[in-house]
Amino acid sequence: MKILLLEDNITDADLTKRGLIGYIPDCIIEHASTLEQARKYLDTNLLFDIALLDVNLPDGNGIEFLMEIRQRELNFPVIVLTGSGDEEAAVSALKAGADDYIVKRLGYILHLPDIINSAITNFKENDLYKSEVINVLYIEHHTVDIDLTVRHFTQYAPFIQIDAVATAEEALLKLESSESYKHKVIVMDYRLPGMDALELIKTIRQNKKLCIPIILVTGQGNEELAVQALKLGANDYLTKSEKYLFKLPSVIVNSYQHCELKRKQDALAESESKYRLLADNSGDVIFVLDMDLNYTYISPAVKVLRGFEPEEAIKQKLSEVSTPASYPKAVKVLSEILLGKSDSPENSDQQKSIELEMIRKDTTTVWTEVKASLITDKNNEPIGILGVSRDISERKKMIDELISAKEKAEESDKLKTAFLANISHEIRTPMNGILGFAELLKEEGLTGDQQREYIKIIEKSGQRMLNIINDIVDISKIESGLVELRISEININEQIEYACTFFKPEVDKKEIQLIHNTTFQKNEVILKTDREKLYAILLNLIKNAIKYTDCGKIEIGYNIKNTNHHSYIEFYIADTGIGIPSDRQKAIFERFIQADISDRQARQGAGLGLSITKAYVELMGGNIWVESEHGKGSIFYFTLPFSPESLTKNSEPGNITGSNNELYNKLKILIAEDDENAEQFLKIILRPISSELLIVRNGAEAVEVCKLNPDIDVVLMDIQMPIMNGYEATRQIRLFNEVVIIIAQTAFALSGEEEKVKNAGCNAYISKPINKANLISIIKKHINKQ
Ligand code: ADP
Repeated sequence: MKILLLEDNITDADLTKRGLIGYIPDCIIEHASTLEQARKYLDTNLLFDIALLDVNLPDGNGIEFLMEIRQRELNFPVIVLTGSGDEEAAVSALKAGADDYIVKRLGYILHLPDIINSAITNFKENDLYKSEVINVLYIEHHTVDIDLTVRHFTQYAPFIQIDAVATAEEALLKLESSESYKHKVIVMDYRLPGMDALELIKTIRQNKKLCIPIILVTGQGNEELAVQALKLGANDYLTKSEKYLFKLPSVIVNSYQHCELKRKQDALAESESKYRLLADNSGDVIFVLDMDLNYTYISPAVKVLRGFEPEEAIKQKLSEVSTPASYPKAVKVLSEILLGKSDSPENSDQQKSIELEMIRKDTTTVWTEVKASLITDKNNEPIGILGVSRDISERKKMIDELISAKEKAEESDKLKTAFLANISHEIRTPMNGILGFAELLKEEGLTGDQQREYIKIIEKSGQRMLNIINDIVDISKIESGLVELRISEININEQIEYACTFFKPEVDKKEIQLIHNTTFQKNEVILKTDREKLYAILLNLIKNAIKYTDCGKIEIGYNIKNTNHHSYIEFYIADTGIGIPSDRQKAIFERFIQADISDRQARQGAGLGLSITKAYVELMGGNIWVESEHGKGSIFYFTLPFSPESLTKNSEPGNITGSNNELYNKLKILIAEDDENAEQFLKIILRPISSELLIVRNGAEAVEVCKLNPDIDVVLMDIQMPIMNGYEATRQIRLFNEVVIIIAQTAFALSGEEEKVKNAGCNAYISKPINKANLISIIKKHINKQ
């Protein structure tokens, strides 16, 4: 540090030099005892860091030298050294532009280093102002004074530019003009013609409401006027003494700086209160953390986000705020921001964003997105991070839902592709049989046996196609969650026996044994479950056992089991068939999966049966699995919940078997059907049990015929008919006939259909294609009920 010391007192100079060298080790001191010597230093070397000037010198005044330094626009601060009791000199020095002063009291050397340092720092900051041009509106009636001032400023304070007017009125005009913004300070003489100085100050402050700094220049002895001026809003005053022009620049600069500072503080306070208002009312939580990651501000929205009042939340540690999984993530990212680290150099001053799981007051958690950035002071030193947290639970939930919807869509797309590939094959094969043999039937000269043979093939192929369609419909119902359970009491032995009877012709043909091992044969075992589904399960498993067994036997049975918590019934279907390799035993329960693809040609199937079976078993509260040895056979098990009280209950005998003879030629039947082939078919199968058959082609006719024939026993009501559909026709018939048995026939095998036809007033429903035995048994069941 290079110091210019202007001091005529040798002892003081010596003391000061020693002190400075002691406290500021690297300093170089140029000492001058007179103004003349000091000027020489300035002529040879201008690069000082600071000047310390004594006021009273043998060849002049230190303040004069201060003016010279300022006049030469030398860029270093000046500290004035005064004797004790000479505070007036200190004040004049400050007004003349000194950066500070020090009174040469005992021990003053000790304070010098601090004063020097702060003078250097302040000087650098104030330099900004000094390099700025300050436009002054000067109101002075005497042109001589104006000239003097302008000349003085041109020489000593060129950064101050004077715009002079002679009267208060002219000054007001200037202040109203569009150029008024350029005037930074007003300097006015206390004697003005017309409107006087006090009046002018009052007008500027009270009428015009301008806050531009005002300096009053008064004559000696006019201090009272100065006091009044200050009261009215003037910022400072200066007495026209001998060297007042030297003082005027610093008075102007001080007033300007003071005013600017105040303006900046006001602006800061205003913007702070604006931001505070914004933060306080923001829906997001805005917070500030210090360098130790402690909260220094947190906005009221924290109450909504985490349930804490801001006063509670501000005291919390980051570790209490975030979940154990999110805490290290938060610390890492926030510390990186504070240390100015970033993933890439160009991102260093940018915001970082993290997703954190935060803890709410009620101990539940909430997912938030936190955007954080660094706060620095004016020297760019980090002082804390500003963060904004936003609740993203909904967004996260939505993303999760979207992902699972996407996965579902992909899964169903895969399913669709598999479905098409499998179904195309499964449908083409029987279709081939139907169309091929129908074509052959047209050939002339076929024997009766040949014809019967071909028809049999067509029938079988049609049956197979129907099975596939039924499977597809079942799978779609399961897929779309449309399957509902209809619980009733079921006699299990009866169900198993019936299933065995159903397959008897098939096993006889294959020459394998089908045994049912019903454990509680003496008693009726009653199970509360869905009859149709249980039947479908049994049929599927027995059908598979027959399909995959070429010799030996198939055994069907069940056991009642108890665990600590509940009883259940465990069914088994054991065969001595081809078996299933252990690595395929799980997969076969999935859709379209067959244990052995190469087996496909030999044993037809779409690979849907077991997946439907599994879905039904699980829907009814049970489990299904297989035990099998490749080449030896398989045992399929499934369980259903069972309540032991129903073990020995007598049930009504089923209505499944019995002869049709009792209905022979008895019933008056109306067939409502718009399709000629279907009508033809119904006529043939219903003829044996009907005394009279009536035929109509639409719903409206059906209603009419029923009105005219109140003795009709049964109506076969097609649902899809022209003019009036079957639902509506049934509703209308029910208005006048509650007893007639109406059986809906529909081609929609989808769920809800049964419900719909029953709501319309039908007694039962049968889906197309119609099975003769099934239809007769339904009719019989309802006739018997009456
Ligand atoms: P599919 O229509 O092919 O029979 P399933 O879903 O009913 O479809 O059965 C899936 C696969 O499981 C069959 O293709 C077959 O490979 C195997 N499988 C099912 N039951 C048996 C059984 N009793 N013995 C041997 N393999 C069987």
